[in-house]
Formats: sequence, structure tokens, C-alpha cells
Amino acid sequence: MDRTAIEIGEVCIGDGGFTIIAGPCAVESREQVLAAAHGVRERGAALLRGGAFKPRTSPHSFQGLGWEGVELLAEAGRASGLPTVSEVMAPHDVERMAQSIDVLQIGARNMQNFPLLRAAGRVRNPILLKRGPAATLDELLCAAEYVLAEGNPRVILCERGIRTFESATRNTLDLSAVPVLRERSPLPVIVDPSHGVGVRRWIRPLARAAKAVGADGILLEVHPQPELARSDAEQALDLRDFATIVDDLDRMDAALTMPRMRAVRGAITVNGDEPRAILEGTARLLREVLARNGLRRDQVVSLLFSVTPDLHAAFPAQAVREMGWTEVPMLHFCEIDVPGALARVVRVLAHVSTRRSSGEIEHVYLEGARVLRPDLVRAIA
Ligand code: PEP
Ligand code: MN
Repeated sequence: MDRTAIEIGEVCIGDGGFTIIAGPCAVESREQVLAAAHGVRERGAALLRGGAFKPRTSPHSFQGLGWEGVELLAEAGRASGLPTVSEVMAPHDVERMAQSIDVLQIGARNMQNFPLLRAAGRVRNPILLKRGPAATLDELLCAAEYVLAEGNPRVILCERGIRTFESATRNTLDLSAVPVLRERSPLPVIVDPSHGVGVRRWIRPLARAAKAVGADGILLEVHPQPELARSDAEQALDLRDFATIVDDLDRMDAALTMPRMRAVRGAITVNGDEPRAILEGTARLLREVLARNGLRRDQVVSLLFSVTPDLHAAFPAQAVREMGWTEVPMLHFCEIDVPGALARVVRVLAHVSTRRSSGEIEHVYLEGARVLRPDLVRAIA
């Protein structure tokens, strides 16, 4: 399945990278949103979020700054150079919001607001569609289908926690949603651990888990002064917390791409017990070991050679010195006489430093020098 990669200015969600969307739950003032925007940009966010229309459980809670908030978020986006994400709640606001905000969010409570989904399908902006607190993954995918069916293919799915019997966390972050959604749909999938757990100190481990489980990105609520946040204060990260999480996520990349020690086996049958035959055969074997495994010479950490007892005219190790690899530690053995074994074989075990997994390593057998002795091949077959 070809995955849908969604470009937003210079950012791309779903291209195999990991996108960080960050910003306050709600836009509260120019100072607050500008401080959040610059703060998260400097610390690694790719997009700036901020709610202007807030779907609050109680009508007496802060409802957001409305269109004034939209304008302040757009201004902060321009000032920081970050594309913006903000929630739209009413179908008749979609077009107007699409003029100044890059990505329109459809909140969990509106996941099955069908007129809103249809309106979102008629603009060109990417739509960040959150899973409803009691919606199945099928229902989420059907909701996305409403947007797609109207002609807007740019939908980002977001797991943000569901309602379960568990009350220790604000919601239950359903990380199983990520592989399931990625199998069922080509759309990018992001995770919102902030609303998922609702408790500041638990966001960091879940952000790491979101990346480990294969999400295309995360959404984090970050406030320059969390104690002053007018909504979702308990889950607001300050800029230091945010930097720590970004650092964790970067280090996960480093761990996954860190070169590992691998061993490559090689063997070649040479023409006779002549120095040239042994040295040229060895040099060819080493070149093949490198070429077939995409290795450079400086990735070879050490070499162990052995020769069958019928070869004593030259040490294969000498070939390595002739090739100019003076810095590689080597050890050379003479094999014991094994009845029925192949004759005139030079063998090598090269320890190499590579990003390839052991399954991607290609061992090299040339000129009839086989993996197994002929009698063992027969015994196994
Ligand atoms: C939000 O992102 O600010 C929000 C209200 O999220 P949700 O719709 O997931 O509750
Ligand atoms: Mn919030």
C-alpha cells in the first residue's frame, strides 16, 4: 500500500519521518501564543497548535478567543515560521478558518459530526481528525471517509485516548490503534499523549511509546507557563519538559540507526598452493565481502583467516597488507586435516561495523567453496 504523505509547506507528515506538533491547548493572548510558538520551534516542533474554538465539557469553562484566537495563532505561525493547526467546530466556520490556518482539526467530540466532516472535505487544507472518546477504529475510518469522499484526500488520523473503565488516567491511550490503522489505511497516524493520559508526568513515556509503535508523529500540549493555562493545565508541558521529550525522541532515532557489529563469512577455493593464487584469491574474496554488503574498508574491524592444511605457500593475511589495509587487526590459523573436506580453501570471518541487520548480511562463497563440507551437505539433505 502506498502511504499518503501530506505536505504542509516544508513539513511532510507520513513520509516515514516523525512530526512533532506542539503548542497550547488554547490561544489565550498574543504574548502567550508567541512565546509558545518561538519556544516550541526552537526546541524541535514542526507545527504549531492552539485552540481558538474550545469544545469544553462545561459551558461555564473558558471557551477560547474565537476568531481573535485564530488571528493570533496565524500571527504566531508567521512569526515563528511554523504551519498552524487549530480546531474548527462548526461547518459554517470551515471555509473562513481555512483562509488563515494551515491544518484544520476536527476534535474528538465532533468525530461523527457529519456536516462538519463534509465541509472539511470541501477545502484543500489537511484535516487532523481525532478519534472520538467512544469510537471504534472502524468508525474513525468511516469518519475519515466522509472527508475523502468530498474530495479532500489529506486526512491525518489521531489517536487521543478513549473512554474505558480505567479512571487513573484522563483517557486510555489506545496505542494498538496505530498498527491497526496503518494496516487498514494509507493515511498518516499521529498520537496525542497529552489528552491520552491528561497528566503531565506520564506524557513523556507515552510519547516514546507512540514513536516506538510506529506513529507518524505526536501532538503535545505545551504552555510557556502551565500554571496559568486556562484549559487543560494539568497536562500542559512547559518548554523544558517539551525539550526533554524531543531529546528522547531524537535519541530513539540514534539508537535505531546506530551501527552494530556484525560478522561476515567468506571462503574461496584457490587454484593451487602458490603464493600468487592464495594472495589474489584472498584479495578477490575480501573485495566481494565488502561489495556485496555495501561496506567501506574503514567499516572492517578485524579479520580472522584460516586455510586448509594443503595451503602453506603464503599467509592470506599478507594480501590484506598488500591491499594497504595496514590498520585492520588480523589473525591467521591453519585448519586441521578433516577427511573429505574441500581442498585449497581460504576462509575469512570479517567483523564489520554496519547499520545492516544480521539478516541483511550476505556471506560470500566463491569458486566452489561452500557453506558446508560436502559430507555434511549430504548428511543434512
Ligand atoms: C484539543 O486538541 O485541544 C482537544 C480538545 O482535543 P480532543 O478533541 O482530543 O479532546
Ligand atoms: Mn486540550
